[in-house]
Amino acid sequence: MEEENRPAAVESRSDEARALDASPRQTKKKKKKKKKKKKKKKGTKAAESADEGLPKKKKKKKGTKAAESADEGLPKKKKKSPRAPFVIGGVEVLPGERRLVNLQLTRLYTSGDVVIPVHVIHGRRPGPRLFVSAAVHGDEINGVEAIRRLLKLRLLDGLRGTLVAIPVVNVHGFLAMSRYTPDRRDLNRSFPGLAKGSLAGRVAKAFMSEVVANCTHGIDLHTGSNHRTNLPHVRANLADPATRQLAEAFRAPVLIDAKVRDGSLRQAALECGIPMLLFEGGEALRFDRVVTQAAVGGVLGVMASLGMVTSRRSQAPEPFVATSTRWIRAPESGLLISDLEVGAAVSAGQELGFVSDPYGLRTTPVLAGKAGIVIGRVKLPLVNEGDALFHVAHLDDVDGAEVAIQEYEGDLGPIEPSEFGEPQD
Ligand SMILES: [Zn+2]
Repeated sequence: MEEENRPAAVESRSDEARALDASPRQTKKKKKKKKKKKKKKKGTKAAESADEGLPKKKKKKKGTKAAESADEGLPKKKKKSPRAPFVIGGVEVLPGERRLVNLQLTRLYTSGDVVIPVHVIHGRRPGPRLFVSAAVHGDEINGVEAIRRLLKLRLLDGLRGTLVAIPVVNVHGFLAMSRYTPDRRDLNRSFPGLAKGSLAGRVAKAFMSEVVANCTHGIDLHTGSNHRTNLPHVRANLADPATRQLAEAFRAPVLIDAKVRDGSLRQAALECGIPMLLFEGGEALRFDRVVTQAAVGGVLGVMASLGMVTSRRSQAPEPFVATSTRWIRAPESGLLISDLEVGAAVSAGQELGFVSDPYGLRTTPVLAGKAGIVIGRVKLPLVNEGDALFHVAHLDDVDGAEVAIQEYEGDLGPIEPSEFGEPQD
């Protein structure tokens, strides 16, 4: 059943895709290909586990010998790479290739196709397979810009392993500038999804089968929602050592040790044994330069820690870890007056601002609970009683974290070529 419902992929032949292809391959003879594909899948799995460092050399050598003797006397084709192609949506991406693959998803009611564009960079050398996704919530567009910038970096030419970039997962939501899918579901509560489920469930299922199942690690980029902005920070299950290593490599000063959410991509990936981070920063429907640079630098830090690129940066400073967070809610309806920014330290019971009626006749203070760092705040000052205003992360050294955040944001700039380089063998 799954096989039947797997989204077929169409290769984009856009100018951009053509420019990105290192050596375009035409796919012909679909039926034959299909058979091959099934075989390939097995082959790919074997080769991919070899990528992760499992001893598969013997097998490979045999295969190579056989191929060599069969090739004897024939005009030499280009040298075969020992790496298997990366197969996604039925499309093969060869080692050393960049390719834009459109995962066929569904149709619009105008009859146009809905596809998830996936940009694959399959390095010549083996290594982890990392996916970086954005706009799972369709209005959280800052991650889309972060991925665009990431893909421009020349250092990816020397990539070890595979980078699978999906700038827009929730295509319907992105088009409608909405967090949700048209069936008013939250895609990030619809994983792992169902091939015959709701629209959101089908998108989730397609993403799981084509992207998550093909990768070894993942990073999902998010922003605040509903007129709220977030401090750049990472949420992850820090009890898992592999995930913690990735989280620290991201270099965001604040980590939230977050239990996974039911139906989230992070939970579904974790259940597949794939360490995954969620990056939060900025607000919906806006670009933010600092947050974008934090995201790009963070992804590269993770890639360096996985050996996909080389980092010439100093070791990441010890992050500040919060094990709990709390939203401070509006005590009254009215206008929120507050200069407090994300990243600020607050003490227990501190006045964070006040809510006033438009005439200034009645004001009510907004008070912090426990001490912490503001990791999110509402930007729209029109609030109803009970609205979430300030998101405070509780951690031990609040003042130390505030200083680290200021230094981190002060240091964020475009990625310099000197910071990362070609991975060494
Ligand atoms: Zn989100």
